[in-house]
Amino acid sequence: MPATLTPAQILKQFFGYDRFRPLQAEAIEAIVSGRDVLLLMPTGGGKSVCYQVPALVLPGLTVVVSPLIALMKDQVDALHSNGIPAAYINSSLAAADRSQVDQLCREGKMKLLYVSPEKLLSPSFLQWLHGLEISLFAIDEAHCISAWGHDFRAEYTQLKAIKEYFPAVPIVALTATADKLIRKDILDQLELRDPAVLVSSFDRPNLSLTVRPGRARLNQILDFLAAHPGEPGIIYCLSRSTTEEVADKLYRNGYKASCYHAGLPAADRAVTQEAFLRDDIQIICATIAFGMGIDKSNVRWVMHYNLPKNLESYYQEIGRAGRDGLPAQTLLFYSFRDVMNWRDMFAGQPSPERLELQIARLERMQQYAEAHLCRRRILLNYFSEEAGADCGNCDVCRQPRTRFDGTLLAQKALSAAIRLKESVNMGTLIDVLRGSRSREILERGYDQIKTYGAGADLKADEWREYLSQMVNTGVLDVAYHQKYAIHKGVLAARVLNGAQPVWLVKPENQPKPETKPAARKSKRELVKEALLDRLKAVRKRIADTYNVPPYIIFNDSTLLEMARAKPADRAAMLAVEGVSAHKFDQFGETFLAEIRQFARKPAGPGGTVKGSTYLHTLALHEKGCSPEEMARQRDLSLNTIQAHLAWLVEHGYPVQWQTYLHPVELQTITAVLARAEAPSAKALFDYFEGKYSYLQIKLAQALYNRNAAPEGDG
Ligand code: ADP
Ligand code: ZN
Repeated sequence: MPATLTPAQILKQFFGYDRFRPLQAEAIEAIVSGRDVLLLMPTGGGKSVCYQVPALVLPGLTVVVSPLIALMKDQVDALHSNGIPAAYINSSLAAADRSQVDQLCREGKMKLLYVSPEKLLSPSFLQWLHGLEISLFAIDEAHCISAWGHDFRAEYTQLKAIKEYFPAVPIVALTATADKLIRKDILDQLELRDPAVLVSSFDRPNLSLTVRPGRARLNQILDFLAAHPGEPGIIYCLSRSTTEEVADKLYRNGYKASCYHAGLPAADRAVTQEAFLRDDIQIICATIAFGMGIDKSNVRWVMHYNLPKNLESYYQEIGRAGRDGLPAQTLLFYSFRDVMNWRDMFAGQPSPERLELQIARLERMQQYAEAHLCRRRILLNYFSEEAGADCGNCDVCRQPRTRFDGTLLAQKALSAAIRLKESVNMGTLIDVLRGSRSREILERGYDQIKTYGAGADLKADEWREYLSQMVNTGVLDVAYHQKYAIHKGVLAARVLNGAQPVWLVKPENQPKPETKPAARKSKRELVKEALLDRLKAVRKRIADTYNVPPYIIFNDSTLLEMARAKPADRAAMLAVEGVSAHKFDQFGETFLAEIRQFARKPAGPGGTVKGSTYLHTLALHEKGCSPEEMARQRDLSLNTIQAHLAWLVEHGYPVQWQTYLHPVELQTITAVLARAEAPSAKALFDYFEGKYSYLQIKLAQALYNRNAAPEGDG
């Protein structure tokens, strides 16, 4: 490395970035000046650069301690793609590779070496390290050292010894966990000396926050997916069986979805994870076993099918979306049942203090989910950060709630609960309020109490919503240890005597699930999207050749910038954020060629009107019109519309063909296509005896042609 480069120059030349993100420059400066550093930054904040740039500035080797092999491999792949000499050492490394690493380290040619904590502190390895020039130790995922955290790893506690063995070498500890207790634990255990403690804002403004009632979740998910075609995402579920069910249902609906949980064989899990990293699987339905070790920067959304047990976990999990800084969606489904499930699970906890802590954390989670205030404010507040203003990017900000005076409803509910001797759960209370004639109600004589049927004008769902709000605001209380019986809350007396008004929020006033803005896309945007899709295809091809995940080649924001700027030469390409000199030399020309070709390419057969008729069809398709509707609206034959859709698919435009053609059907048709010599649609139609429609056949042909198109073919 030329020692004359400044950190900013290194950032540009090796990583392709124009400027540091908040705190990166400070962290790098402190490290390079030889100080110990504790760096707290949210997931996606850009921690890696903070020790990778110093590794290039400092003369010797930087040793990075990392808990997972998958993480090491990903990091090393990414460094290689930027032309930085790096390696990892773990049990999976063959002896020959190991001795090559050894040699490069001895010759001073290696800049970064990733190891596991147990490897680092094995006597033979320590001895070997002592023979090298070590400039820096970086401890990644440093919160693993603390028994307070959720990722505690006993091996990490051994890292205390680093300071003993290498007193003169600075240490940087990095984590995305903001908890104060954990922070103190890291400082103490690693015995950091006069450390610079740098805490970046935990705000992730690019993540939208949405909470939805946990009813008809699958339909809500399908709506969401239809509005975000092709975008990779994770659905977190509480139980293994739920991950399997959800993945199965999505698969049946034509999505490339898989499940992931600790009960699956390790080999299966590895395959699923790898396929997700490589964009071969779009959706992972997972328990929290999935996540650590996922550096995939283009996760575009994260959903919680069930309520997480606390805000730390929630924030860490949603943090896996949008690491590249582009907008990303998060969606939490909230149901009271999940709260009950968690409480039941906590009940097995032997230590009363721990139980209390867990319940207190769960309650904060619940308050967040039920809140009618800006959600980001609540989150930042929780992480002891001040939020300046409402964020504008959460469901509450997007659709502010209107409240109504619900005092009368609260009085009815309270009166019923009291007359039922505070002994029934929410479901029964609702039945009584609505005057249900169910056996249980009649047998128990609940139809005799005074408030029976007093709330018949509301639906059960509405009552459920309002009662939850009442529980949340202290009007009612839930006796968890008495089968969730509804009790009076702390405010009950004041509400009953009219001294305390109760404000409620109507359920229909809550936002619809997030869909992309329905605004008509301009032609320019459609063209940009089409180019982006093609650049993604190029990226995928290169990634498969190099055997790495696509985001290692370029991340989504870099491709988006390319599609927008359409660079025509090397200089213009290097100006795109994320294109380093090394990456340009490796694959810059391939992307340039694709962009040139796209710009030149006539958009339709004959190349006449720049394909505007196709784009018109595409615009209608994106609005959700069926081919029949399109034919009617455009006054074209159904045949023509089908041909348009097939043409758009073949030329890489973003058509949701899965709406019409299930992947399994595609496979069947493709198998025949691959065997025959370009059969006509009619021939195929007859071959399958009408089992598949013409549209399905044409789409399958288009997909087949697209995939078979030789590189560089216009
Ligand atoms: P963390 O480890 O904090 O979760 P990463 O180090 O993986 O985050 O960085 C997240 C993403 O941000 C990566 O895609 C990385 O390349 C990108 N990134 C890091 N620093 C910058 C920067 N200064 N400008 C633009 N992108 C950056
Ligand atoms: Zn907000």
